[in-house]
Amino acid sequence: MFDAQPAPLHDHTLLTPGPTPIHPRAMQALARGMLGHMDPEVFALNGEIQADLREMYGTAPETFTALLAGTGSLGMEAGFSNLVESGDEVLVCANGSFGQRMAEMAERYGARVRLVTAPLGEAIRVEDVAARLDGKVKMVAVVHGETSTGVLNPVPAIAELVRGSGALFTVDSVTTAGMEPFRMQEWGVDYTYTGSQKCLSAPPGVAPIAVSDRAFARFAARRTPPPLWYADLGGLRDYWVNRSYHHTVPVNLHFAFHAALRAALDEGLGARQARVKQVGQAVVDTLAPLGFTPYVKRPEDRLPTVLALRLPEGFDDAGVRAALRRREISVTGGLGPTAGVIWRLGLMGESARPAPYLRLMAALEDLLGEKHLAARFEEHLEGVTA
Ligand SMILES: *Cc1c(COP(=O)(O)O)cnc(C)c1O
Repeated sequence: MFDAQPAPLHDHTLLTPGPTPIHPRAMQALARGMLGHMDPEVFALNGEIQADLREMYGTAPETFTALLAGTGSLGMEAGFSNLVESGDEVLVCANGSFGQRMAEMAERYGARVRLVTAPLGEAIRVEDVAARLDGKVKMVAVVHGETSTGVLNPVPAIAELVRGSGALFTVDSVTTAGMEPFRMQEWGVDYTYTGSQKCLSAPPGVAPIAVSDRAFARFAARRTPPPLWYADLGGLRDYWVNRSYHHTVPVNLHFAFHAALRAALDEGLGARQARVKQVGQAVVDTLAPLGFTPYVKRPEDRLPTVLALRLPEGFDDAGVRAALRRREISVTGGLGPTAGVIWRLGLMGESARPAPYLRLMAALEDLLGEKHLAARFEEHLEGVTA
């Protein structure tokens, strides 16, 4: 099930919900010498990235894909700056900090935001979206996997509502694309983005985007140019399609991203989904007897790539994580209202492997005086693999 991996080039064990450990092939690609951003070889490599992104996102054959020179948040911001105009009604689903970030950005670009929320740790309800959606809404925006709480939102069901409403559909696929099913064309998604350092285990610094023809038509019909010049879709198309200069792209990050994305597609998206499930289940089963319980109540609402676990009663969150950090193991706690209440264990990209979690279990065995924790993890892993 788990393909053989070259030895990691570093010792630190990152179990955080991003960044994830750099894939060895991406690390190697970073060592390549510099080439110009207008070099034919770079354009050829960009073309391969675009084709591979269409496969990863499940787009129509000719859908525009590109890398933005920035992190996932730039992918988010570019969607609002290009596709929203002042006064537009935008329905934002916000059940965590990244949904809230979307709402804040949409407002800064002049949108009238209709907020659909859900209690922390619960998914957005499709009925609540239906109740706020009408012919005036120009865009619906949702985070597929809410990293702050480990919740998976029902994107295919929301997509069904949005289709035929006249609204554009923007989906944040930062914690899903490349690791979990994502079908841009089938669902009718108009704009999506992720960050290189999440599910693809490339270095941070580029944000892969995909833009539907409908979104491009909306962009072309703008009354005024988008306020954010740097991520202007027209300028991006000039570079990525017409091969003319817009700005200097981070060439080395393109090399590394290309290698990481190829590695993901070579492994197969199905195999990646399977190892997320297997490692995640083994972690849950191993930690359950210690009192760790899933934070998200409904199993269908659980985001496989960010495992949110409620800590046992009286557990010394800060102390244990600091002790783990001294052993070069990074684990992330909760955010805001869930600080001290949960751990968020990353199962994106190269962190969804047995080896890093075995290191965590061995360290916890020692720190908590829990005998055989590492051995139990290995047993559970075999149990779910069989
Ligand atoms: C990490 C993340 C982002 C923001 O990405 P940055 O790379 O930190 O800018 C946006 N949305 C979600 C769901 C994320 O997990």
